[in-house]
Amino acid sequence: MRIRVLGSYGSRAPGYHTSSLLINGTLLLDAGTVAAALSLEEQVAIDDVLLTHAHLDHMVDLAFLVDNVLTLRSSPLRVWAPAPVLDTVHRHLFNNLVWPDFTRLPAGGSPALELIPLPDGSATEIAGLSVRWVQVNHTVYAAGYCLSRGATSVLFSGDTAATDSLWTMGRDCAGLKAAFVETSFPDRLEALAAASGHLTPSGLRGELLKFGRADVPIKIFHMKPQFLEEILGELDALGDTRLQVLQGGEEFLF
Ligand SMILES: [Zn+2]
Ligand SMILES: [Zn+2]
Repeated sequence: MRIRVLGSYGSRAPGYHTSSLLINGTLLLDAGTVAAALSLEEQVAIDDVLLTHAHLDHMVDLAFLVDNVLTLRSSPLRVWAPAPVLDTVHRHLFNNLVWPDFTRLPAGGSPALELIPLPDGSATEIAGLSVRWVQVNHTVYAAGYCLSRGATSVLFSGDTAATDSLWTMGRDCAGLKAAFVETSFPDRLEALAAASGHLTPSGLRGELLKFGRADVPIKIFHMKPQFLEEILGELDALGDTRLQVLQGGEEFLF
């Protein structure tokens, strides 16, 4: 499984891009940063998009991706997520007001965009991967994912505050090679983190104790850029050698 980090922050500023992972060149996990990070050729190669939730920083570039590839593809761009997430994306973004409804706009005889709800409780094959999900703890309906190919898996938290479901699923992911976990705010903003459904470094520490897998590398993302130095200092103080803070541009081969 080849994973390229296109964006790893919880907001945008010069040099800081919102959350997106490109997996094996054809699957996008969240769509916070696509159009500015990939060539048109690379954008056309994306067949599937998996969304954790419908907050803008995770789906904004879906608007530009589908627009860019509209006339270049012969099949719909497939977007996968739990049904409540897709419903929000359809009603509030692709609604013919904010942006065209690309699920109805034809491109070469088929719609440009296809929204496909993930079934509850069973794995779904997407882009050659087996995808399992659980609902995590955010202010809107949000999913965390276990992506598996053969005996190799990665866990992706999406945006979440304290969660048990993610770690229960994570312990059950066969051959888990890495867990991508959000950390958005410094400890002094714990109240804001809790109110907005996010983790601080202290919160992360508690979550990793629940996870209990000392052998799994932890990739940290979704830091708010304005607090980055504080967050990095607090993460460093945890003294946990599993942690790697993602800056964008990293490539992993699992
Ligand atoms: Zn977010
Ligand atoms: Zn969010």
